[in-house]
Amino acid sequence: MIRVTVWNENIHDSSPEVKAVYPLGIHGTIVGFLNKADGIQAKAVTLEQPECGLSDSVLDETDVLVWWGHLAHDKVPDELADKIREHVNRGMGFIPLHSAHMSKPFRRLLGTSCTLRWRDGEFERLWCTDPGHPIAQGLPPAFSLAEEEMYGEFFDVPHPESVVFTGWFRGGEVFRSGCCWTRGYGRIFYFQPGHETNPTYHNPNIQKVIVNAVRWAAPTARRDRLDCSCATPAEEIEAKGEEIPRF
Ligand code: ZN
Repeated sequence: MIRVTVWNENIHDSSPEVKAVYPLGIHGTIVGFLNKADGIQAKAVTLEQPECGLSDSVLDETDVLVWWGHLAHDKVPDELADKIREHVNRGMGFIPLHSAHMSKPFRRLLGTSCTLRWRDGEFERLWCTDPGHPIAQGLPPAFSLAEEEMYGEFFDVPHPESVVFTGWFRGGEVFRSGCCWTRGYGRIFYFQPGHETNPTYHNPNIQKVIVNAVRWAAPTARRDRLDCSCATPAEEIEAKGEEIPRF
């Protein structure tokens, strides 16, 4: 079983406009479709819970952390963001969604500003630009969203290891909408669609991308801690103290 924790700041979710689209909250909707997928066990936590819902024991028992945040990036303590970065470096998967591009854990992990250009309410077509990637499996060459927030280049992130999806918007902009990175032992997949007033997370293609991303980001190797230890040589070194030859 892949143990997934879906974190949501859960602020937009109480507004009537968002409730009409996501009666269970964004986190409840994501947990709902993840739990229908084979081999995935997901639960939701939110910012207002003690320790922001992410105590050490929750993080220790999380294989993949999904993150939705927008208004309250600053409410996430620096110490927690540092802890998440360490967990990713040790092997935990991390999937920041939509406006989580400005979240503290994502920016810490990537080390750049992660800024972009945006505009509300556009038609988006998502093109698969790495069809051989595990996250693209079962997805068509392109699919569209009737309305989604436009995110446009330049997206200030380090060069992704793969751009699995590229978004095109009616205004002419393009965006690297689905990007992969590795940090330490951990895998990161950023996915752009998911504005709170659009029904994006009900879309079967979007759900398939997120399920695939969870499977891809699940740890293949995980370290208990990050240490920088003194190494013993692989074989005996006989010529100890031998002078370095001069040329
Ligand atoms: Zn948005």
